[in-house]
Amino acid sequence: MAKITIRDLPLRGKRVLVRVDYNVPLQEKEGRQTITNDTRIRETLPTIAYLREQGARILLCAHLGRPKGKRDAAQSLAPVAEALSKLIGAPVQFVDDCVGEVAEKAAAGLKDGEVALLENLRFHSEEKNDPAFAAQLAKLADVYVNDAFGAAHRAHASTAGVAEHVPVKAIGLLMEKELKFLGDELENPKKPFVVILGGAKVSDKIAVIDRLLDKADTILIGGAMAYTFALAQGRKIGKSLSEPDKVDVARKALEKAQAKGVTFLLPVDTFVTEQFDFKAKSITPGKYLAPGEDIADGWEGVDIGPETVKLFTAEVAKAKTILWNGPMGVFEVKECAVGTFAIARAIAENSGATSIIGGGDSVSAIKKSGVADKVTFISTGGGASLEFLEGKELPGVACIPEKA
Ligand code: AMP
Repeated sequence: MAKITIRDLPLRGKRVLVRVDYNVPLQEKEGRQTITNDTRIRETLPTIAYLREQGARILLCAHLGRPKGKRDAAQSLAPVAEALSKLIGAPVQFVDDCVGEVAEKAAAGLKDGEVALLENLRFHSEEKNDPAFAAQLAKLADVYVNDAFGAAHRAHASTAGVAEHVPVKAIGLLMEKELKFLGDELENPKKPFVVILGGAKVSDKIAVIDRLLDKADTILIGGAMAYTFALAQGRKIGKSLSEPDKVDVARKALEKAQAKGVTFLLPVDTFVTEQFDFKAKSITPGKYLAPGEDIADGWEGVDIGPETVKLFTAEVAKAKTILWNGPMGVFEVKECAVGTFAIARAIAENSGATSIIGGGDSVSAIKKSGVADKVTFISTGGGASLEFLEGKELPGVACIPEKA
């Protein structure tokens, strides 16, 4: 079922409150806060362009960082208003508060097609879904639009509560795209459907694994997550990162895969080191273990090895749908990024498949490997995409009605 989108509504002359995800990284340079990555701003441009074309009066609202209910100049959205203005080639009025008199005045003063950005929602602790605060936000709007997929897993005033007070609501074009790729495309994937999961913890992704075992033909596991599965198979993993209390859960997933006939592949070889310093991004000289070799005491696995890359690449090449979430190793450290980048390239090379990158670290991995433009879709949600893939209904999506 499809949600109402902004394309379904008459918008001319309407005050449209749009929740966006402008939680961008900032860095102080010469006494000014500078945006170091504007991807999240760019991702909202189609929605903003459409609303401007339609003659809507656009009030954007967002959170930035964790100011914990207090004003903090270092976490102001003012630099975002400036950046957005440059990107759309039109003024973006910056409004010094997101509720109250200043905000209401700004909303009332907007003309058709004009854009304003409200100050950081989290300068008010009531953003954590206080109904009175949600009602204050609602006062600003004739129409509420949620386009903040990255914040949709939180039931906050601006992501969900406000919708109860605004009769007309819709999702934006970014949210629509996220739901199409993470939802519809994976609900009925073209087969073979190959899922690649990595990252630190089994516990973060076990619910996703469990759900995808019902959909996928093949699941490939890398990253530290693989070592908990290795323990479940009775292998030795040295001092590799693992979750001994999740070994049972891992074993059950392996059993389910077998019962369902899902090909479930773990790394067959590993790049190991004795010491790695995450902060300094350095390791003591590492070595590749032979295929099948266990990890000795005192050593830890930090990347998949070349045989695993070959094995996984062959599976990826056969796929018609690919979903990737989580790096294959400690990809932040150059020596341990080989496997992750190889998998990124393998995904990019399969141009016949629908390839979906499910948010978080795999997004920076795919960008760092220079192939981001060769994949079908890159999700903007980290936690939100994982919860969505688990099959949970996200509060920020649930609050928008379905099309009649
Ligand atoms: P996640 O947020 O769960 O996707 O995990 C991403 C993090 O997992 C990254 O910071 C990686 O450095 C880390 N990671 C991946 N493989 C390993 C490994 N073998 N040992 C330790 N950390 C790892």
